[in-house]
Amino acid sequence: MTDIIIVGAGTAGLTAAIYAVRAGKSAIVFEANAYGGQIINTPDIENYPGISHVSGFDFATELYNQATGLGAEVKFEGVASIKVDGDKKIVTTTAGNSYEAKAVILATGAKNRPLGIEREEELVGKGISYCATCDGMFFKNKVVAVNGGGNTALEDAAYLADLCSKVYLIHRRDQFRGDAADVEKLKKKGNVEFVLNSNVTRLIGQDKVEAIEVTNKLSGDTTRLDVAALFVAIGQVPDNGAFSNLIDLDEKGYIAAGEDCLTKANGIFTAGDCRTKSVRQLATAAGDGAVAASAACHYLG
Ligand code: NAP
Repeated sequence: MTDIIIVGAGTAGLTAAIYAVRAGKSAIVFEANAYGGQIINTPDIENYPGISHVSGFDFATELYNQATGLGAEVKFEGVASIKVDGDKKIVTTTAGNSYEAKAVILATGAKNRPLGIEREEELVGKGISYCATCDGMFFKNKVVAVNGGGNTALEDAAYLADLCSKVYLIHRRDQFRGDAADVEKLKKKGNVEFVLNSNVTRLIGQDKVEAIEVTNKLSGDTTRLDVAALFVAIGQVPDNGAFSNLIDLDEKGYIAAGEDCLTKANGIFTAGDCRTKSVRQLATAAGDGAVAASAACHYLG
């Protein structure tokens, strides 16, 4: 039986693995996709203490190598369910394999929030993207749009402005949620146009995105913007439904847990963006990983 199973190989999960193995516990990390979580798509991290600049990919790779080098095992299988049998936790993966652990840390992160408009799903990969650094190159020298007003949207717009001929940044309010410094940087770029108080209301194009319709919330006016792609960056939603039999979720679906990373279930802990918290940052994800693993080690005795 493994001491600690960690669900999610993002910053929180891999940090938890580092703390677990360094405390002498065995740890397996399960990951449904690639290691690194959301940060892997950030071109340049400049707010992680002690590192002035690093790409998300390099950061995640170093973290992965650090955790596995110290002895954590990473299995690329999604977790479908967890059952508690006395002190034993039985983790079943989407591949149908079962693993047993004494403690579990849920570090499932969050996934991109879809716009929820017609044809969005159909046009993913055909002009609809949720990742500017992954897909931006496909639209080199073309006109594109970014939707959102948080840090991700601002970073995406900056990244795309260096690659594309023009970037429309569409936001539903006239104030950005993301950092003011990043807004100022965008204003200095010659090819970024802010489309404020507006929502994307229609996707236009036969087999791929050729244009979008944008509706101004104040006037009700609609405008057609000819773009080759729309990058959706309107935040994240959690994906914890599979564990709601064991732990409480808040009204938005995040795991109800405080800064101590404890859930209501004995021996089940949580870390990172998947839990209720006000600041979802790389530094807080790493902090959570340390807290959750320490709590799990204390629980194991
Ligand atoms: P976010 O901060 O939650 O921002 C989401 C944005 O999308 C908001 O501006 C929101 O508008 C808008 N929005 C939400 N639902 C919408 C809808 N249905 N239609 C249109 N617009 C919608 O998300 P994020 O930018 O992905 O960032 C997530 C977290 O990661 C944040 O804590 C952020 O600070 C952090 N992050 C940090 C960095 C960094 O520090 N380098 C980089 C990226 C992300 P309203 O403003 O009107 O609510």
